[in-house]
Amino acid sequence: MTKKFSTRCKECPRLAEFLAESKQKYPDYFCKPVPPFGDEDARLLIVGLAPGLHGANATGRPFTGDYAGILLYKTLHKFGFSTAPESKHIKDGLQLINARITNAVKCVPPQNKPTPAEIKTCNQYIKQELLALTEKHLVLALGRIAHETTLRSLGIRLKDYPFAHGAVHHLPSQFTLIDSYHCSRYNTSTKRLTVDQFEAIFAKIVKLIDS
Ligand code: SF4
Repeated sequence: MTKKFSTRCKECPRLAEFLAESKQKYPDYFCKPVPPFGDEDARLLIVGLAPGLHGANATGRPFTGDYAGILLYKTLHKFGFSTAPESKHIKDGLQLINARITNAVKCVPPQNKPTPAEIKTCNQYIKQELLALTEKHLVLALGRIAHETTLRSLGIRLKDYPFAHGAVHHLPSQFTLIDSYHCSRYNTSTKRLTVDQFEAIFAKIVKLIDS
């Protein structure tokens, strides 16, 4: 039976323990599995890796509260997918427009690194989100793990659609998958991902949605 996502999920013992520890340390933080943000019918689904300790884990909204969301929301706003360029907290009134953001793993992992078993366990939730999509939808995978999680959820072999920044994969009888390097602090500060490169991905997305 399909299990519906719940912010009470504790199926990964290590992550449940880490959340409990985080709550003790930071009582004001959200410290629960972070639900997706945005309209379920949105044409664009953005898939990240997992909540950041002082980001989504603190605020309860994906990519909100830490560095990783700065470039993402700025770009979403620039391309008409967000009502504001900055996502500050869950009650700031920001809304996504025709876009939704989710994570491959819904709970913050220690050192931002979920184990393969945790990715596999949490796959049950993103799989439901992905299976609800059709040919008219686009999925933006932020990083290799998001890309591979997406393919695995659909039972597609990874070697048939290898991850590459900027690649557009027309999946058979499914949505279109677009890859980008993750907009993390590490990738942007090392110039692995520049603002121009990230904006080029969104220009491509807009073109695909309009076509
Ligand atoms: S990572 Fe996913 S499956 Fe694991 S405890 Fe969190 S919500 Fe549940």
